[in-house]
Amino acid sequence: MIKRKGMPNLDLVFRLLFAPAMPGLIVKPRARIFHGHEWVYASEIQKTFGDPNPGDLITLKDFKDRPLGVAIYNPHSQIVARRISRRKQKLDLDFFTRRISQAISHRDSLGIDPSLRRQVWSESDGLPGIIVDQYAKHLVLQTTTLAMDQRKDLIVEALVHLLSPESITLRNDSAMRRPEGLEEEIRTIYGTRPEPFIVSHDGATFEIDPADGQKTGLYLDIMPAYRRIAAHAAGREVLDVFCNQGGFSLACKLAGARSVMAVDISEEATRATTRNAKLTGVEISTVTANAFDFLRKHDQTYDLIILDPPSFTRNKKTVKDAMRGYKEIHLRALRMLNPDGILATFCCSHHATRELFLESVQHACVDAKRTLRLIDSHSQRLDHPIIATLPETEYLKGFTFQLAPNR
Ligand code: SAH
Repeated sequence: MIKRKGMPNLDLVFRLLFAPAMPGLIVKPRARIFHGHEWVYASEIQKTFGDPNPGDLITLKDFKDRPLGVAIYNPHSQIVARRISRRKQKLDLDFFTRRISQAISHRDSLGIDPSLRRQVWSESDGLPGIIVDQYAKHLVLQTTTLAMDQRKDLIVEALVHLLSPESITLRNDSAMRRPEGLEEEIRTIYGTRPEPFIVSHDGATFEIDPADGQKTGLYLDIMPAYRRIAAHAAGREVLDVFCNQGGFSLACKLAGARSVMAVDISEEATRATTRNAKLTGVEISTVTANAFDFLRKHDQTYDLIILDPPSFTRNKKTVKDAMRGYKEIHLRALRMLNPDGILATFCCSHHATRELFLESVQHACVDAKRTLRLIDSHSQRLDHPIIATLPETEYLKGFTFQLAPNR
């Protein structure tokens, strides 16, 4: 059809007038999304239009009706929308395959061991609510947002296509699911339930059982610290508090520690540490105890003490209490440290900032009348990428200090 200049394109006009617009939100001025963040909180919504359903993909607009991109939606969560793209985007197989593939390439380019790493980490990889860990040929998947939980099948399809795993275990027992209104579940979602199997890292051997509901699992974010702490272990007496599967203990013993004592409150964890020590061919003593009691009552001293507790706070409100907890273990550890002794301490709570955490060390030094000097500092491994504009993506920090001579 030949169109004469100046004639309106009726087809386009018709489509614009009658096409159902994607439902969405108008975001209030000054919301965090205008400062580089990807989340919209309930308090930042000016208006909801088009009646979106929980789990839908929605449009975000500013107060002047300018598009801000597309987001996943859950009105029952405090974080109502999480942006996945600044452009138009569908949540289809192509999208998941592309984003997961980008995440894998990023880790490849950093040279992180592909048989023991986090392949996808939620917002940091543009996939809010998807976490994928790889242990040898097996994957563990978590879906912590409603929208991603609804699209598990597509995610599994993309993972199978890209990584050809033997199994995928859905390990949805994270507390993060609750605010999204999701139930806990653990099941094999692809392949058959794997038997416990063995992985090795820097000469240490760990048994992995991804389908076991009791186990805490092997933490991948802390792994580079094993080698760096172990570098100080030769000939030393080591205390590994909050040992979990014994990662620090094994590395220190392999590096020539005179003795290693590993402590954890969970019997499952101390049993795993003993089992992993046997598999590795090293000797480690274990104690099942509450670290606070153990540190208070135990009267032996050590040359190297490692403190890697779970997060003492999950929100801003309890940060003060958490800091008291950190100070307490620092103080106890300082009193158990031999001259020249080394203290390696970690904090995995986003809310306790690096500065606050350091402050808890400082307070302990004052009370113990001891001087610590920094010899190393630590962060989460880069398969848990930190995004400059998403402060929540930074959570793990640690310091290695050595006791300075008494002056
Ligand atoms: N260092 C470990 C990770 C520690 S995770 C690693 O390299 O893998 C935190 C551990 O602290 C868990 O194993 C948990 O069982 C243990 N834990 C939690 N509360 C504790 C307490 N009060 N006393 C001792 N251990 C505790």
